[in-house]
Amino acid sequence: MTPSGSDGWEIVYESWKLAAAGEKIISLAVGEHDIPTSKPILDNMFTSAQAGNTGYTPVGGVPALREAIADKITKTTGVKTAAENILVTPGGQFALFIAHMIALDPGDRALFLSPYYATYPGTIRSVGGAPIEIDPKPNSGFQPNLAEIAQKAKTARSLLINTPNNPCGAVYAPDTMESIRDICRAHDLWLISDEVYEAMIWNGHHTSAWHDAGNSAQSMVVGSFSKNFAMTGSRVGWLCGPPDVIALAENLATHTTYGTPGYIQQGALRALALGKALEKEVTAPFERRRNMALELLSAHPDVDFLSPDGGMYLMLDIRKSGLSSIEFAHRLLHEHKIVIMPGDSFGKAARGYVRIAFTASDEQFAFGFHTIVKFLEDLASA
Ligand code: PMP
Repeated sequence: MTPSGSDGWEIVYESWKLAAAGEKIISLAVGEHDIPTSKPILDNMFTSAQAGNTGYTPVGGVPALREAIADKITKTTGVKTAAENILVTPGGQFALFIAHMIALDPGDRALFLSPYYATYPGTIRSVGGAPIEIDPKPNSGFQPNLAEIAQKAKTARSLLINTPNNPCGAVYAPDTMESIRDICRAHDLWLISDEVYEAMIWNGHHTSAWHDAGNSAQSMVVGSFSKNFAMTGSRVGWLCGPPDVIALAENLATHTTYGTPGYIQQGALRALALGKALEKEVTAPFERRRNMALELLSAHPDVDFLSPDGGMYLMLDIRKSGLSSIEFAHRLLHEHKIVIMPGDSFGKAARGYVRIAFTASDEQFAFGFHTIVKFLEDLASA
């Protein structure tokens, strides 16, 4: 799965070792909230488990949750979506795996856009597919390179996209999504759209691949409770697709996960009932820290970066430091006790960048971000 021998997360493991040895580390690496799952959700899980909801559950998800997710999708996309369009999964990552398992036969070429979430190539390899990375056009703000996608689509079976994007914060505009759908239709390609950051939009609005029902016959959308509801550890997400696809996915789930814990699904139901208000509460700190970062950067015109339109990360261009992104991240960890992700973990296009997550308290984030910018400036002027 990781032919280079690296899964991109080494720096995080190293920071855990330092923390275990007693070092105080500011963690701006992993995409995880600095707050726990909210109490009403936990209460629901606890009450449900105490009441005996600790047995096997319907493999595709409990009907009430499938319906509630479908309902949410109907409301946000305008596309009438039913329980039969939804498979509840133990996390969005497993939905990514299932989607590719369904789309690909062994050896099929599977497209994905660089920079990308670190698991993408391994997920494709894990189902026997051949991952094909597509670079963005230079200086496009990491927007999809439509010409390149159309070219590579001729010999491929699927295309994986991610909006809002991890790591770069790009949000794909409606016309970009339409062009992507047109390409997929023209070349009979599965469109797999990872939308786990859908509630984190700071500029523009989210366009789902599910928006246009007539064109969705070969679309699968991956969603999750992890990011929008601060439920990363509960491992609950979904795959949305045409009913025949979801029936296949359910069959696959029978032979792999055998379902998602029932009391966790009750927590997910509570999250959906709390809805937009809770999503806002969970995501507001990321928007605040993103704005703090942009404000600080406005006073440092020599520092290059990508202004994120969505998501919980900012990409800083560190090429002026003279270091590779891996060297930069390692030195920052050892010299300043701050852990961030090297761009190399997210594909060729992100080399020369580091990804900074908005995942520490405002105070720690402000200190950490300021330290990173100063570290870069000092290196650049050395
Ligand atoms: N897709 C993207 C782009 C992600 O960043 C993540 C988690 N970091 C996932 C999918 C998987 O999320 P989960 O399995 O927790 O739902």
